[in-house]
Order: sequence, then structure tokens, then C-alpha cells
Amino acid sequence: MQSAPSGSNIRLSPAHTWQSRVLRVTLLTSAGVALLIGLGRVLAAGHALFPAGEKGMVFAALTGIIVAHLVALGRDRWWGTSGSGSALTLTILLLYGWVPAVLVSLAVVTLVGTARLERCPQAALQGAIDLLGVGAAALTLAVGGARPSVENPWEPADWQLTTLPQLLVAALAYLLVSRTLLWLCVAPPGGIPSPAAGALLSHGLVAVALLCIAPLMVVVAVHKPVVLPLFAVPLIALDCTLWMARARAEEQLLDPLTGMPNRQWLMERTRAALQEARLRGEGRCALILIGLDSFRAVNDTLGHLTGDRLLLQVADRIRREVRGDGSATPRGGALPPGAVAARLGGDEFAVLLPRVDSATSAQRAARALVASLGAPLDLEGLTLVVEASAGVAVHPDHAAEAEDLLRRADVAMYAAKRDRTGVEVYESRRDVNTPDRLALLGDLRHALDNGEVDLHYQPKVRFDGAVAGLEALVRWEHPDRGRVPPDEFITIAETSGLMPRLTEYVLEEALGQVARWRRAGLTVPVAVNVSPRDVFAPGFAGAVAARLARHGVPAGSLQLEITEHVMLEDPQQAADTLSGLASHGVRMSLDDFGTGYSSLVHLRRLPVSELKIDRSFVEGLAVDSEDAEIVRCTVELAHSLGLVVVAEGVEDDETWERLRDLGCDAVQGWLVAAAMPAGETTAWLLARGSGPDTPAVTRDVPDVDAADAADAVPRPVPPASRKVVGTSAPAATSSAEAPDASPRQPVR
Ligand code: C2E
Ligand code: CA
Ligand code: CA
Repeated sequence: MQSAPSGSNIRLSPAHTWQSRVLRVTLLTSAGVALLIGLGRVLAAGHALFPAGEKGMVFAALTGIIVAHLVALGRDRWWGTSGSGSALTLTILLLYGWVPAVLVSLAVVTLVGTARLERCPQAALQGAIDLLGVGAAALTLAVGGARPSVENPWEPADWQLTTLPQLLVAALAYLLVSRTLLWLCVAPPGGIPSPAAGALLSHGLVAVALLCIAPLMVVVAVHKPVVLPLFAVPLIALDCTLWMARARAEEQLLDPLTGMPNRQWLMERTRAALQEARLRGEGRCALILIGLDSFRAVNDTLGHLTGDRLLLQVADRIRREVRGDGSATPRGGALPPGAVAARLGGDEFAVLLPRVDSATSAQRAARALVASLGAPLDLEGLTLVVEASAGVAVHPDHAAEAEDLLRRADVAMYAAKRDRTGVEVYESRRDVNTPDRLALLGDLRHALDNGEVDLHYQPKVRFDGAVAGLEALVRWEHPDRGRVPPDEFITIAETSGLMPRLTEYVLEEALGQVARWRRAGLTVPVAVNVSPRDVFAPGFAGAVAARLARHGVPAGSLQLEITEHVMLEDPQQAADTLSGLASHGVRMSLDDFGTGYSSLVHLRRLPVSELKIDRSFVEGLAVDSEDAEIVRCTVELAHSLGLVVVAEGVEDDETWERLRDLGCDAVQGWLVAAAMPAGETTAWLLARGSGPDTPAVTRDVPDVDAADAADAVPRPVPPASRKVVGTSAPAATSSAEAPDASPRQPVR
């Protein structure tokens, strides 16, 4: 039985492996044999099976109350039986011996099991386990010399100094044997999930408390049986505490929005499925990761509430596919039985197929899921078509461990998104990610989800000292590895497809900061780097415009830096996206100019307003006459096209002067300032007196909204120009910038 979670009720019972089947059969048989022998001996000796008279009636009444309470609670736990039932069983064991105790225990499990018909096989198993637990406790009592029966009850009058330890040992033996057997039978092979393990501890404490009540019940049963039913109150109260502990453990494994299991649950379940697959020998299991292609656009344009509704509908469709009654899946169709679904967060869902024949059948299942999500959705009168992409990874073909399987499914999903193929199966030869890079990718995704990635800002300054703008540069402090160079993690993000998420993050942070600066009277424009992947993502221009509107930032305050490589891949698509952005008033800057192969002629057709000469040409400017010639030509040609020219990587005064002489418009580099955190940038801007009256560096740029451009102009700069708050060039020669904490000294 592979139980899938339904609603808020997660059952973690494993699929039956042959080992678990053997264990169950052994338990049922040995319990049955023990019961028959016990009954036979009691009846042969002419003993009664259960006490008669008042005491019998009272115990029967208490049993009835407990059964009613268990049925009403509707419990369905994967470990542990009822605490109140156990306390009652132990009381009868102490007083009358193990045969009547087992009869009460069987009455409880049979009645509860019958009331909840579908749990009958589990009830039988629980009865058998309880019987063996009671047997173990009876054995410890017998070793201590106590062999109670209905005719010869072990009453408090017979108790001696050694009785208390004897009682404790019996209770512990009962708990240990019954709980261990139960755990072996119904706990998932991967172990109990960690939050559930926490609940298990409190479960154990409450169980001990329940068992400590047993001797008290014996005393009352002997001396005042009529008040015995009052024990139902503390028993039920403690039982409810157990039930709540379990409910809390379950909640930790659920996604609060959709009620689906969450990532943690999925990982536990995947681990268990992998272990089962290993036990089966030839077994395969597959993980399908599903992401919605335009969810963020829906969220940005229609709001989070609509986004949530959309996710609920998507969750519903996935659930139906998994159950086998979805539109894309005829009954018994594409999804193999045993499939379970989870929501991993954001717009990501996953479906685990614990048993598949091949990667092809997993791919078929993924196609069915994607097809079902592609049908139009009705969001309160609004019809939306949301496309989904899915990545498939199969064990053992693609990964041995659960985490790796998820990462590989992730890589495949992004390949499907990138190539717009709908579904992709992981292919190692197309995966440039080493395990280390995959780990970094997972960490980056986590860091983005938790806002642990920062933006630093590096000024672009004109030769008269005016601040022409700031470039936002991403910074990530990895908890174990320290600061990871942007070049390193951006390459990984680009090859895996996490790039759109990173760009969204950077845009969101940068625009939030621009809005804050504007409120503080600082109207400096900010440039954000975008990768070719972003430019080719459908709806990018519209999403940027929506984001600008949401932050109340004029388009002229945002600049996007793109590299020449964008033009090489798909010039037409790139031109369309860039025109779209320009029509919204966003300015474009061509980054790293000179490193690609595009000619300046192409530039005429592009709506760019700025050109950034790559650091490699600027570095050697003072000593290399060839570099100087390249820079001179570039500046002249760019100016003839009406473009502003910015030189990057300016580290010394000599280079600064050469650039000024060559007619460059602005510079960016450590000579002026390294990239700084937002707070430091604010102080830097204020120290320079950046404000609304200094003209920004603009040439003939027809696409820029005039009002926005005026808005985006920095404040006047003191005559001392760049030398006021400069920074010394760091000794580092790599592309990694100077540590931000390095002291900033005046230049010269
Ligand atoms: P880039 O766009 O060419 O950014 C300029 C790089 O040069 C930055 O490196 C900057 O810190 C560094 N730099 C600035 N002044 C000097 C200088 O005087 N000397 C030297 N040697 N280096 C200087 P960083 O921050 O390591 O970024 C490296 C690249 O990573 C960037 O190159 C850009 O391509 C990419 N990147 C950074 N942030 C983002 C982002 O938010 N999104 C995207 N798509 N790419 C980004
Ligand atoms: Ca850049
Ligand atoms: Ca650059």
C-alpha cells in the first residue's frame, strides 16, 4: 500500500517490500499462536477469561468510552497505537494477567478498526503488535514472580517494596516491544521525517505518563471500582495531547497555501523511494519537476492574490493527474500508480514516481502533467493560459541520492524552459554542472529565495565630476565558501537557467533602492546587467515595465546593460526585445564593448544609448598605443552614432587623463570608487552633493522620456571633482573588486 497524502492528512506508510511482508506475516502468525496457546491454557485450567460482576462491568464501560473516543478522533497515525488503550491494557495485565489484557486490547483495535473499515488490515497488525507487547510485559512480571489471573488478581495488598521497579520494567517492556515493532512495520524505510521524530519524543513522554496511571487505576479498581470510569478524563486528555503533537508534526510537512506536501516531505519520501528501488534491485524511480513559465508575469501584473489563486488551481490539476482522474490522463493512464505530488515553493511543483519502467514512461507522465496544466484556467472570469515546463530525472540512471535527483530534474526543467520544449529528460552530456556547481546552484536558489543576495553600486562619473549613474553589481556571501565571485555564480545561473530568477531579484532590489533614493532626493539612474537569456525570455520588456510601474520609478532612471553577445544569437529577437524596452523609455547600454564580434554598423539598428569600452582595452591604455588607437576609434564612431561612451576599469590617474583626452564621456573604476553597499553609496552620493541640477550624460537619445531624463539628473558636484571622495586602486588584479571594507583614501 502506497499511501498518498490527501488534504492535510499525511500518511507515511511504505510500499510493501518483501521484507516488510515477511515481518507482517511473522508478527500476525506469532501473535495468533500466542493467543491460541494462552486461551487454551486459561480455559484448560478452568479460569475465567474476563472478570465478572461490578469490576467486569466497569472495565467494559471504560473500554467502551475509550473506543468511542478513538473512533471520534478519527486517528490515523503511522506510528504508535492509542495511549489510552495501552493504559487500560496495562491496568488489566497488572490485575488479571495477559489473557484478559489481550482481549481488551483486541476489543479496542477491532472495534476502532471496524468503525473505520478501510483500516482493517492495519488494525489486525496493531492488535498483533499490542499482543506481543503485552506478552513481553507479562513475561517480565512472571520473572519477578507475579502471575496474575482473573481468579487470582495481583492486588495492591500483595504489592511489596520490589513492586514499583517491577511495574516500571513491565511498562517499559510493553512500550519498547510494541513501539519498536510498530515502527519497523509502518515507518518509512528512509526513517521518520525529522519534525515527526521531534513529535515522537513528546509522544514517548506522554505514553510514559499514560502508563504511570495504570497502577493508580489498579488501586481504584480494587477499592472503589465505581469511580474507575472517571479515569477516562485524564486518559482522553493525554491522548488528545498525543494527537495534537502529531498534527503539529504533519503541519511542518505541508505547504500552507495549497495543502500539498512540501519540499521537506518530498525529500523524505524520495529517499524512501530510492531505498525501496535499491531493495527491488532493478527498480527505477523518477522525479518530475514542474515550473510555470509565466507565473511571475501574472504575479507582477495581476497581483499576488491572483497569483495564489492560480497556484491553487495548478495544485488541483496536478493532484487530479496524480490520482488518475485528470483530463490529460485516462484512468490508469500516463501516471504510474503510487505517484505523489508536492509543492516546492514559488511556482515549482514536483511529482515523484516511486516505480517506473523507464525514463520514457516518466517522460510520458511529465507530458501528461504539462498538457493538463496547459489547458486554459479560469481565474474569476479571466481566462489564462499558463504554460509549464517539466524536467525529469530517473534513479539510478541519473542520480543515486534524493538531493542529486532533484537537482538534475531542476537542470532538465530549465533546459525545457530555455529550449521551450515543454519536457526534458536529464542528459549528463548536456549538463556542464559538476556536483560542486550543482551544490552551488542549489545554494544560490536558496539564497535568492531568502533574500541573502546583496547589490552593491559602482558610480559612473563624468570628467567634470558629475555622477552619470550607478551600476548595480550583485554580491553573494556564501555561508561556507565566503564571497563567491559574480562571474562564477552568474555562469552557473546562466547554464542552468536560474538566470531569469536572478535578474528578477536584481531588478526588484535595484528598483526598490532607486525608489528609496528618489524619496530621499537622490535621483541618480541605476544600471542593471541583464544576460542574453533574459533578453530572449518572452515578455521580458513588459515585465520590466510592470516592475517599474509597481515601484513608481520613471523608466529613465533605469538602464539595462547588455553585452554584444546578445546580438549574435538571435539578432531579430534581441532587436524586438530591446525596441520594446526602449519604447517604455528604458535606456540600454552595450557592455564589454570590443570583446564580441559585432561591428559598430550593427549598433545603428539597436536602440542603445551608451557604450561601455571593455576593461581589457582600458587597462593598457597608458602604455599600449594599439589599445589607445582602438579606444580613440571607438569613441569617434560611437559619438557619430550619438552614443555616450563610458570606459570601465579605470584604476589610475594616467588612464583617466588619456580617456579624457580621447573624448570619452565618463569613467567607471576603482579610481573613483569600487562597488559599495547601498548605505555606503548613499553616503558617497551625499558627500559629492549629487542632486537634481547637474545634467546627466546624454547625447542624442530620442527614446528617453524627457521628463524622466530630467528626473534622473544628479546634483551639482563640488569643483574639486573626483578627487573629493575617490578610492585608492586596490592591489588585486583580478576581476574581483577591492574588498568593500577597504579604506577609501583621497586620490593623490
Ligand atoms: P561587468 O558588468 O563588466 O562589471 C564590471 C566589473 O568590473 C565588476 O566586477 C566590477 O566590480 C569590476 N570593476 C569595477 N571597477 C574596476 C576596476 O577599476 N578594476 C578592475 N579590475 N575591476 C573593476 P564584478 O562585480 O565581479 O562583476 C563581474 C561581472 O559579473 C560583471 O561584469 C557582470 O558581467 C556580471 N554581473 C555582476 N552583477 C550582475 C548582475 O546583477 N546581473 C548580471 N546579469 N550580471 C552581473
Ligand atoms: Ca556591466
Ligand atoms: Ca563590463
